[in-house]
Amino acid sequence: MELLHPTDLKPAPLARLLDMSPDVLGIGGSDGYLKLVNPAWTEVLGHSTEALRTTPYLDLVHPEDLDATRALIEHLIAGGRSTDFTCRVRRGDGEYRWMLWSAQGAAGDDCFYVVGKDITERILLEDELQRRARNLERANAELQEFAYIASHDLAEPLRMVASYLELLQRRYGGRLDATADEFIGYAVGGAVRMRALIDDLLAYSRVGTREMERAEVDLGALLGHVLLGLGPSIAEAGAQVEVEPGLPSAYGDGTQLGQVLQNLIANAVKFRASERAPRVVVAAAQVDGGTAISVADNGIGIGENNQERIFKMFGRLHGRDEYEGTGIGLALCRRICDRHGGRIWVESAPGAGSTFHVWVPGP
Ligand code: ADP
Repeated sequence: MELLHPTDLKPAPLARLLDMSPDVLGIGGSDGYLKLVNPAWTEVLGHSTEALRTTPYLDLVHPEDLDATRALIEHLIAGGRSTDFTCRVRRGDGEYRWMLWSAQGAAGDDCFYVVGKDITERILLEDELQRRARNLERANAELQEFAYIASHDLAEPLRMVASYLELLQRRYGGRLDATADEFIGYAVGGAVRMRALIDDLLAYSRVGTREMERAEVDLGALLGHVLLGLGPSIAEAGAQVEVEPGLPSAYGDGTQLGQVLQNLIANAVKFRASERAPRVVVAAAQVDGGTAISVADNGIGIGENNQERIFKMFGRLHGRDEYEGTGIGLALCRRICDRHGGRIWVESAPGAGSTFHVWVPGP
């Protein structure tokens, strides 16, 4: 069918369109009364056509929305237009519904034309979403603060316990019986381990609380720094660490990117296979408008079903008697990558070594 110009429409099809509309359509007069309403008014708002014609339309508007509605109507009667006005309208059963109006006045006509949609569900949903987001944000901030305070305040008494235990070990080691030496040894070991846990937890919570200082980071220089710090454990493991020449720069927080590299290289050396000398290759390239960094090792590898789990807090695949560690390192790496808007993932197979990939976006 050819599209008709509105003036060609005969009353019958026009009336049918009005009948079919799920949105309320109407004409309001400058005398405060509705002049035309379609059936949707009754369906949506539950008032009879008669009641709608004989009740001043402003009587249906929520008292808090009255001033704004009055101002809009004045604007419309003067020939104005609005497409996004919302106000609460009272339904037949007394409940208010949020309505979104598109309205147009015609100067000289003494009336205005309106199309309204009931958006109550949407508004309630948006309110609920906002409420949940605020709650989540608050819970997150509280948790963040708790983790920081707990780890920070635990550090002090722990330092005390550790130093007196060490003193006890130094002064009285060998002077009590063998069982006492053994017990003191366990206690010192426990304190050392707790120190490592608290340090790692603090580092983890700081990633969330400290402002990031993002800048162009020279990966070559950063890596030099990291390898210097890891020197003793690399030497002890007899590991060979190769850095591919010509590393590009990355955009990010230098300290945090350093923490990522440090954790990945330390793990590559730590989780070495006993039957071969550890070899680690670090490479980086400009990819997809950001920087991709990889740390590949020839170590014990990780099974496919554990490749997500290791990035979770305390997600460890081995007992402490096999490999030392707190299980926080990769969770910290993931958090840093998330904060940078980047990604971290692993490609690996048991016995075939692992390659950890990091990607951070450019400026
Ligand atoms: P941690 O090293 O303190 O145990 P991480 O969070 O750094 O904690 O690592 C979590 C777990 O992921 C490790 O316990 C280990 O099982 C596994 N893993 C990490 N890096 C490697 C690697 N390069 N090769 C094999 N397994 C690894």
